[in-house]
Amino acid sequence: MSDNGELEDKPPAPPVRMSSNFSTGIKDSMSTNPSSKPLPSVPEEKRDKPRRKKDKDKERPEISNPSDFEHTIHVGFDSVTGEFTGMPEQWARLLQTSNITKSEQKKNPQAVLDVLKFYDSTGNSRQKYLSFTGTIVSIGDPKKKYTRYEKIGQGASGTVYTAIDVATGQEVAIKQINLQKQPKKELIINEILVMKEMKNPNIVNFVDSFLVGDELFVVMEYLAGGSLTDVVTETCMDEAQIAAVCRECLQALEFLHSNQVIHRDIKSDNVLLGMDGSVKLTDFGFCAQITPEQSKRSTMVGTPYWMAPEVVTRKAYGPKVDIWSLGIMAIEMVEGEPPYLNENPLRALYLIATNGTPELQNPEKLSPIFRDFLNRCLEMDVEKRGGGKELLQHPFLKLAKPLSSLTPLILAAKEAMKSNR
Ligand code: ATP
Repeated sequence: MSDNGELEDKPPAPPVRMSSNFSTGIKDSMSTNPSSKPLPSVPEEKRDKPRRKKDKDKERPEISNPSDFEHTIHVGFDSVTGEFTGMPEQWARLLQTSNITKSEQKKNPQAVLDVLKFYDSTGNSRQKYLSFTGTIVSIGDPKKKYTRYEKIGQGASGTVYTAIDVATGQEVAIKQINLQKQPKKELIINEILVMKEMKNPNIVNFVDSFLVGDELFVVMEYLAGGSLTDVVTETCMDEAQIAAVCRECLQALEFLHSNQVIHRDIKSDNVLLGMDGSVKLTDFGFCAQITPEQSKRSTMVGTPYWMAPEVVTRKAYGPKVDIWSLGIMAIEMVEGEPPYLNENPLRALYLIATNGTPELQNPEKLSPIFRDFLNRCLEMDVEKRGGGKELLQHPFLKLAKPLSSLTPLILAAKEAMKSNR
C-alpha cells in the first residue's frame, strides 16, 4: 500500500481471518459463521439455526394480515414462583427451547413477553410500500435483449444470472422470478418500485424489468465483487477500510431517509461490492415509505441480529433503525459476525431488548474515534442516536482509505471461498 492508500503493483496480501480448524489460516465461514436470515414465520425446527444468506436457502418472512391477538392474550407473571400465567402453549414451547434462563425471565419478564410476541408475530402484517398497479414492466423479450446468461446465484425468490446487453455490450445481473411461486408478490413489486425510484451511486441500479408469462426478469447493474458478507467472514478489514464502507452506506441511507424510505434490513449480506471497491445497497423488499402523517412504523421487519431494540420491543420506530443496523454491520466488519449470532434467535432478541448497546469482544483494539462512531450508531436512546446527516460528518469517516483499498480484500475473499469449496 502506498502512503496515500492507493494500490501499488503488488500489494501485500490482506490479512485473512484465522480459524483453529483450518490449516490454511483462512476462516471456514460455513463452520464458524452460521448465516443469518430475516425472521421467518416457519416452524421452530426450521428457524433454530441462523444461517447466512449466501447459503442460498434464505426464506422471506411469511407475514399474514393483521390479527387481533394482541387484544386477546393476557399473560401475567408471578414474581414469587417466577412463572408466567396464561401464556399460550405456542409461546411456552418457544420459551422452553429459547435458552432464556429462569433468572433472565425473572429479571425482565416484560422483555420476554415483548420478544415472544415479536417472534411469534406471524399475524402482524408488513405494510406495503406501494401496491401493484401494472406501473412497472417493459414490453419485450429479455432473452433477445440480453445474451450469454450465466447463473451466479440463487435467492429465495429466484435465480440471478449475469448477461450481456446485446445493444450496448454492458454486463448486467438479471434476477428471474417465477411469480406463480411467490407467496408474497408485493415484496417483489416493492423491491422493483424502490430500485426504480431510488437512483443513487450507492444503491444497486435498476436497469429494466420484463414479464414473460409468469416469469419476471429484473435487470440491474452487476456488482462483480460479491457481498460484503464474503469480505467480513473471510478477511480482516482495517479501520480505514471499515470507515470507507460505513461512509458509502451512510450516503445511501441518507439518500433513502431524505426520500422518506426506511430500508429495514441493513446487514452485510445486503451490501454488494464492485471490483473497483464501489459499495452499494441492495434488497429493497422490506423498505417502508414514511409520510409526515405516519413518520413512525411498528411492524416488525428485518433480520433479528441486526434489529434495533425499539423494533424488537415493538415500539414505534423511524429511519434510525437503519443506523443501529449499520452499527451492527460495523461490528461484523470488526468481528466477522454480528453479536449473538450463535444464540438461539429468540434469546438473541431478548438480549437485544435487555442488554442495550452490545459489547465488543476486544474494545481495546479499536481506536477511540471508531468506538465513538459505534456508540453514536448503537445508542439505545433513539433521540440521542446519530442520524445519517450527522454521522456523515463524524471524524471516523475522515480516516477512510480510497475505495480501491477494498479490492485486495474482495480478491482475497474470493480466493478463500474457492479453497473452502
Ligand atoms: P431474495 O431477495 O429473493 O430473498 P436473496 O436476497 O437471498 O434472495 P438474491 O438477491 O436473489 O438473494 O441474490 C442471490 C445471489 O446473487 C446473491 O449471492 C447475491 O449476492 C447475488 N446478486 C444479486 N444481485 C446481484 C447483482 N446486482 N450483482 C451481483 N450479484 C448479485
